Amino acid sequence: MQLALKKSDMNNTLSGRDEPNWGLVRLRRSLCCLLLVPYLLTACGGGDGGSPAVPHTSDAVAAASEPAAQVASSHSANSNQVTPWVTDALAATQTLPASPVASSAPVNSAPATAKAMLGATAGMAVSDLTPPTGIPGDVITITGAGFTNATRVIWRGGQLPSHDLSANQMLILLPQINSAQDLNGTVTLIREDNAQVTSNASLTVQALPQPSALSVTNAHEGDQVRIDGKYLIPPLIKSMTIGDMEFLPTSANGAGTQLFFTVPKGATSGSVVLLDWKGHRISAGTLNVIPPTPSIEITSVQFSQGPLYTVSGPTVDKNVRLVSQRDLLVRLRLKPAESLGQIKPEVLLAYGNDAQAVQVVSMAGPATLSTTSVAENDMANSYTYSIPGSAVDKGFFFAVKVSDSRYPDATKIFNYTPPAGALSGGTYIRVHLVPTVRPDGVRAKIDPEHFKRELMAVYPLSTVDVVVEPDFHWTVGSQISNDDILDLLSDMNTLRSSSQSNNYDFYVGVMACYCSSVAVFQGRALVVADTWYGSNANAVTEAAMHEIGHNFGRLHPWDDANSPYRNGGVIGSGPWLPEVGPDYSLSFVDPSTRYDIMSYDIPDAISPYTFSGAYDYLKANLPLSAKPKLLRASAPVGQALFITGSINLDSGKARLRKPTSVSASPDTVAMAADSTPGSQDYVLEINTATGSYRYPLQPKTVVTERSAQSLASFELKVAPVGQIQRMRVRRGDTLLLDQSSM
Ligand SMILES: [Zn+2]
Repeated sequence: MQLALKKSDMNNTLSGRDEPNWGLVRLRRSLCCLLLVPYLLTACGGGDGGSPAVPHTSDAVAAASEPAAQVASSHSANSNQVTPWVTDALAATQTLPASPVASSAPVNSAPATAKAMLGATAGMAVSDLTPPTGIPGDVITITGAGFTNATRVIWRGGQLPSHDLSANQMLILLPQINSAQDLNGTVTLIREDNAQVTSNASLTVQALPQPSALSVTNAHEGDQVRIDGKYLIPPLIKSMTIGDMEFLPTSANGAGTQLFFTVPKGATSGSVVLLDWKGHRISAGTLNVIPPTPSIEITSVQFSQGPLYTVSGPTVDKNVRLVSQRDLLVRLRLKPAESLGQIKPEVLLAYGNDAQAVQVVSMAGPATLSTTSVAENDMANSYTYSIPGSAVDKGFFFAVKVSDSRYPDATKIFNYTPPAGALSGGTYIRVHLVPTVRPDGVRAKIDPEHFKRELMAVYPLSTVDVVVEPDFHWTVGSQISNDDILDLLSDMNTLRSSSQSNNYDFYVGVMACYCSSVAVFQGRALVVADTWYGSNANAVTEAAMHEIGHNFGRLHPWDDANSPYRNGGVIGSGPWLPEVGPDYSLSFVDPSTRYDIMSYDIPDAISPYTFSGAYDYLKANLPLSAKPKLLRASAPVGQALFITGSINLDSGKARLRKPTSVSASPDTVAMAADSTPGSQDYVLEINTATGSYRYPLQPKTVVTERSAQSLASFELKVAPVGQIQRMRVRRGDTLLLDQSSM
């Protein structure tokens, strides 16, 4: 612990550095060691030059949508007046005409160069959008042919976040829309060789009411409650529910920003849910309905697939995420009213989803309960149940009912429906632990079981597989240098690519040393020491989980403008946080005693911010549906040339590992012969006896822990090109590497 780097040291190393211009994670240095952290890559591709002028998605979508007030104005001449709720005048939602897709201008229209450039390969096709309709945050699969890593997806003039699973499948994330009406349009895919294709079918993003808050947190039956938000209008809202009671709002204002309802007689505490005309359930918040008689008090209802979120509180934590197909721990704390004295509670839990019938089970907990409050960390005196992952899916809800046979009037019910967008798809990764052996025979220590339990506890994954690879004989001298560690990272990429890996395969090189770690931002490889802060366990819980966080698209707090922990300090408030002990046991710890896992301070834990951010990345890039068999079966592999290397952005020097032949499908095609890369674009040029090929490089930031070097790595699979005579790496007109033989 005494080795912890002080924050002030790190701040000092930061001064005087310019902000990199393509989103690199900044690197830090200390005298004794360096950790390489993963790279960053923006969702729209790393280059800032030479790309078509595609407007940012949210701007484009916002520009294409109508203001809410315009839609709602037909219901009221004066937006300040309250309008009665009218249900029979609800026309089906209209769809705005799709705006013309950006003309997808070629990347460059410069004249053909004099050099003989070999052209691009086969054409592209889009055969299916599955599903063709969704709500913001949904992940859509595009099926077709000819997709690559650098293929961009344009919808209504804006680029959508996308991820290339294979040459035949891409995933896209539906954007938030600022509209009271559904928006639709075809999708256009543009590849790096300027090949493009537009879907025949349209993709529709459905408009949803967007509640933001309830006017009160506690109410009695008969009280009027206001919901604030946007698009709270009859065309989007059919009715509402609290628990199993369905009823109509009483009125709304003309602007669609306020909706009123009366708490129905017999209503129970829990989520206030808006139902739209298409069957979506949108939670507007939690209302505590105060019962007429003394009762058993539900101190808190919590759940966990990571952080232990309280869902019975007055506000909904915006970081709440529910991962499909993952067990959900529900935890209940009770306190009988003083007048009831000690009780013998019966605690029932009901749960279900759109596809499963409701199950009712008893929650485990103490047989008797006094009127003393149960402490936050007192799991033994709480009531708990783990809902099986199969139930956590579309339409999921649960309810708890607490009673004591001697006091039937004291029965208390709480029901819960997740907020819109919180429950999404399942996620999956497979981790390959690669123990390295140094020339002196020392083998890195690994603990696959600890690694797996820690990953599942900390990150929003439905399932994890951990496999141990054969020992990797690491050629290093007596001193382990930065370049040695970087080369090992490249070796992990090569090992990964030569083993017919899928997108969900992560390779973790483990070094027998107390030295620096490194990972690729949004990459699939990392290298970590087997000892950290004095123990092998710390190397897993502190270093490896930090590095894989970079793989999952998480930045250091000081590099992340949105991080609430940007200025250092403990996480502080919010849900208690999961922690796996040396004996593999899971417990929850006070957030005021932990720093965010993406910081350098210890002890650390996964913050709600990091957890939700990781889930947003995982669900869009690493779906559970890709778990083995599915993709393997549908995507036959061919033969490809795998090329990997790194770039030192400070010195402008590039390194290439020897290209290897792998059984895999190419993920990159040669650039159009007449294209001229932008001044900031990285390009690999390969000369052969028959001509030259150029390929776009997409360097991902290598986050180098405690080092001031700015590093990036790249990897690509291309169709075999025959005997290579020469390889060059350029950025714009600047030559970074010229290698005549490998
Ligand atoms: Zn880091």
